[in-house]
Amino acid sequence: MKNLYLGLVHYPVYNKRQNVVTTSITNLDLHDIARSCFTYGVKKFFVINPLQSQKELFQRILKFWKTEIAHHYNPDRVKALSIIEFVTDINSAKKWINLQEKDYLLISTSAADHPNQISYRDIDNLGKSIFLLFGTGNGLTKEIHREVDHVLEPIKGDTDYNHLSVRSAAAIVLDRIFRKI
Ligand code: SAM
Repeated sequence: MKNLYLGLVHYPVYNKRQNVVTTSITNLDLHDIARSCFTYGVKKFFVINPLQSQKELFQRILKFWKTEIAHHYNPDRVKALSIIEFVTDINSAKKWINLQEKDYLLISTSAADHPNQISYRDIDNLGKSIFLLFGTGNGLTKEIHREVDHVLEPIKGDTDYNHLSVRSAAAIVLDRIFRKI
């Protein structure tokens, strides 16, 4: 795999009644996933949300981390948050990546098995750059899973319990991709 880009999708995702909704950005998701992304050398962490009010919330969350005080208070966190980009939809992120990459794979993630899902080993063998999508709420819609090049095989533990937070799932997926397992 060449370069990796990560997208945190807030629309379209499902709620617990399987309606398609827009979820809210959370401070915890931004900080935790940015730290995981920076740890593994992810080129850009896209926060994807169509709402102007959410863009304003995003700007409020990140405002402090652009100040001189933040650079002294926690320079490591400033570095991690520097790779975050707010976009209104997945296509805007793809346009951004198209300026950096001639060719890349769009891959979604899910806790469920999907037909023609791709394994971590396949990803490594394909040797291409990847734009990896993570959902919020109750997960990415079936339309998204149909539009992408592949759905990544789900992380599975030793039980049938599978309700990882997106923060935990992102960290585990990144580690498995870079550990080539
Ligand atoms: N509100 C939840 C939270 O607190 O994080 C969001 C749950 S959301 C469904 C979790 C997202 O993480 C999924 O959309 C998927 O992108 C990813 N994910 C969760 N479990 C996973 C698994 N077992 N394997 C791969 N990705 C997983």
